[in-house]
Amino acid sequence: MFWDQELETLPRPALEKLQLKRLQDTVRRVSQNVPFYQQQFAALGIKPDGIKSLDDVRRLPFTTGVDLRATYPDGLLAMTRDHSVRLHTSSGTTGKPKALFFSAKDVDNAAELIARSLVMTGITRQDVFQNMMSYGLFTGGLVMHYGAEKVGCLVIPAGPGTSDRQLMLMQDFRTTAIHILPSYALYFAGFLEQKGIDPRKDLALRKAFVGAEPHTEETRKRIEEAFGIDVYNSYGLTEMNGPGVAFECEHKAGLHLWEDNYILEIIDPITCEPVPDGQTGELILTTLKREAMPILRYRTRDITSIIPEPCKCGRTHCRLNRITGRSDDMLIVRGVNIFPQQIERVLMSMPQVGRNYVIILEGLDDMTVKVELSAVGFDGQVEHLTALQSQLVEKLRAELLVKPKVDLLPPGSLPVAEGKAKRVVDKRSI
Ligand code: ADP
Ligand code: ZN
Repeated sequence: MFWDQELETLPRPALEKLQLKRLQDTVRRVSQNVPFYQQQFAALGIKPDGIKSLDDVRRLPFTTGVDLRATYPDGLLAMTRDHSVRLHTSSGTTGKPKALFFSAKDVDNAAELIARSLVMTGITRQDVFQNMMSYGLFTGGLVMHYGAEKVGCLVIPAGPGTSDRQLMLMQDFRTTAIHILPSYALYFAGFLEQKGIDPRKDLALRKAFVGAEPHTEETRKRIEEAFGIDVYNSYGLTEMNGPGVAFECEHKAGLHLWEDNYILEIIDPITCEPVPDGQTGELILTTLKREAMPILRYRTRDITSIIPEPCKCGRTHCRLNRITGRSDDMLIVRGVNIFPQQIERVLMSMPQVGRNYVIILEGLDDMTVKVELSAVGFDGQVEHLTALQSQLVEKLRAELLVKPKVDLLPPGSLPVAEGKAKRVVDKRSI
């Protein structure tokens, strides 16, 4: 299903022409209104008239998270503050928050991108949409909310509240779709199990949208199996509006990035040179339609790659592979580079393993993976546990090339975060 079929399937030459025009407008606007970019353009000898092709985006300066903090609170505004109607900030997972201003048009456009994204997964006005993300400064609440309302769904702004209340709302209002953190979805599945609720029989759920934190294909499958629903990956970041930047279509085969709103590049994070299509690198995004606060070549730190083949759905907007993490998530343990997602993939592929885990680094370079058991794994037989423990250590060693310790814990014994899951606790002395 399409929200705006013409735009979503625009032939590439027309899409690129639209991108170029919007890029030229954006560059002109920031060169007139944003001292931060004026200074950078002067130093690099960039004139707005010099942007003649899409490739010229590579002549523009990068914008980094450090720049956003240095210009905090409103140094990147391209309009006076009284044109802004909304403020969001990043959740601050990696330090002080970054502030993002929205004009009325920006708010509406962000909702439009969500509407497009939801509709392409089959959401209609008949759906009851329970938004289980935080409604504060975090974009996952309000931005998704306005988009689902635009589609015409009945939207329940549940927020992250307690599981009992979520379940009550789901039952009383026959919720069909949820927006939820993947880590919370795993936890919530365990909660339903404990309550003796069978989601297939007792609930009307059919779709979940998960995002805001990295998760693996194995985690998606687990959530799908636990609830008997379809789970779609949703990617976004506050700096680029929040959710609605890239989203999976009904084929669940990569995330379509809305290229009429963003120019994407994938670069080698060290050399900053573009990588060939299909190769992994850091995602760089330039906003094309933001009024209040345009951002050029934002270094997202998110690691992904382009899927070069066109999608079966007919949309021409490029697809990204699942984000495997942020370049700054990478752990260096005994000289080896490790992404927490590699550990999650191993854990979630084992049925004896439960739904929560944490990676602890301590001492000089000791890694312990503390992981909950599932009901299958927690059968009270000590010899099963010893065998499972050795099997996990072996699988992790093969994946990571470093041998971790594994602690197996009873179901439900690890703490659950209110917001995004904190998967790594680094207590190393150096
Ligand atoms: P913070 O940077 O403080 O966490 P945000 O809430 O803006 O604030 O988080 C955006 C980040 O969340 C992205 O840059 C990315 O690292 C991560 N993220 C969002 N959606 C996904 C997703 N679907 N898969 C993996 N990571 C995601
Ligand atoms: Zn598609």
